[in-house]
Amino acid sequence: MEFNTKLLHGRTVSGYADHAILPQIAQVTAFSYESAQAQEKVFAHQAGGFAYTRIGNPTIAAFEQRMAELEGGATATACASGMAAITMGLLNFLRAGDEIIAANGLYGGTIDLFSDFEKLGIHVRFVENLIPEEINKYTNTHTKAIYGEFISNPGLRVLDLPKLSEYAHEIGVPLVIDSTTVTPYVANPLKLGADIVIHSTSKYVNGSGNSISGIIIDGGRFPWDTDRYPALCEFKKYGRMCYSARLRSDLWENFGGCLAPMNAYLNILGLETLGLRMERINHNATALAAALSKIPGVSVRHPSLLEHEDANLVKEELQGQGGGIITLRVGSKEKAFEVINSLRLATIASNIGDIRTLVIHPASTIFAKNTREAREKAGVYEDTIRISVGIEDEGDLIADFTQAIGSIMERLA
Ligand SMILES: *Cc1c(COP(=O)(O)O)cnc(C)c1O
Repeated sequence: MEFNTKLLHGRTVSGYADHAILPQIAQVTAFSYESAQAQEKVFAHQAGGFAYTRIGNPTIAAFEQRMAELEGGATATACASGMAAITMGLLNFLRAGDEIIAANGLYGGTIDLFSDFEKLGIHVRFVENLIPEEINKYTNTHTKAIYGEFISNPGLRVLDLPKLSEYAHEIGVPLVIDSTTVTPYVANPLKLGADIVIHSTSKYVNGSGNSISGIIIDGGRFPWDTDRYPALCEFKKYGRMCYSARLRSDLWENFGGCLAPMNAYLNILGLETLGLRMERINHNATALAAALSKIPGVSVRHPSLLEHEDANLVKEELQGQGGGIITLRVGSKEKAFEVINSLRLATIASNIGDIRTLVIHPASTIFAKNTREAREKAGVYEDTIRISVGIEDEGDLIADFTQAIGSIMERLA
């Protein structure tokens, strides 16, 4: 089955209660039992069933199973947000004294989170290019993970996952990939060598900007050495599934960052059109980036552009699809604000992956807490505008951005 067919007829789509075509929304806290014995069995994992929504819920499980199937993972664990997924996905196997090697150009929230990790004794070493030659300089016995965004938001760098995973596995650490901006429609990080995949499903998976959520998907293939990863020691008997076993029955359950059943349902609805939306978004973004790059005085970044530094990886790993984010530099913060304010269609909002085209000035908003140095390393300058391209008609989008840039450039030149 190809992707769009799988979205509607995949292995994990059928079998809903009462033959409903979509899973029912189990908007409940707890599940009742006929006897204490029956409940005991569920708690002892001797019988299937649900007990309490923080630990498991049929609507959330339906979403998790869909995501595991679409990413080719062994297990998926849904979380209250993408940030919760990153936090729990990493803290599940790390502890004080450990080090992570990560790319510079990460999502601002993740950079902030990594400074919280410092306070827990987990040190993150940032490299400009997440490639073996650079990672090698920082690798030591404390190195316990390599972390990056497949297409970084908003840096728009693309990672070479086969090469990175080969290096990670050589040094015995997992490759953890945030694939929010790529989505399983475009590529599956697990198939390219990653071990753990994380998504902010608030974005493209949901698609309509109606719920915050995240997910952790475990490929189930990494050979965890529990001497090296003592956090997983207690779960050693699960072998390569020890990561999922601990996450599910210990860390994730105890941290309490579960997804709401209603939001799981909204994500399942969104997923059904993920392929259609991504096809259109990729098409629109490629067309808009090409049109904007012809306007003198602005510089445009999108992975589909020939001059992009990772253009070869876009071809090899992403079938030429650069995703829905474009960044634009227009010369000054003042000009960036003017361009944003002159747009008639694009909505000023701090989100990506919506069906509506969204714009933001990252330096004064989502990167306001980061230092100037960290911002610039992430590809965010005073004059940068981030566009999250939606599914509107291509001509209307090009006309809107062209008029906004055109009028402003004359006036402020
Ligand atoms: C939005 C985003 C996150 C954080 O997800 P939330 O759902 O907002 O918590 C993490 N990584 C990337 C790449 C994102 O775009």
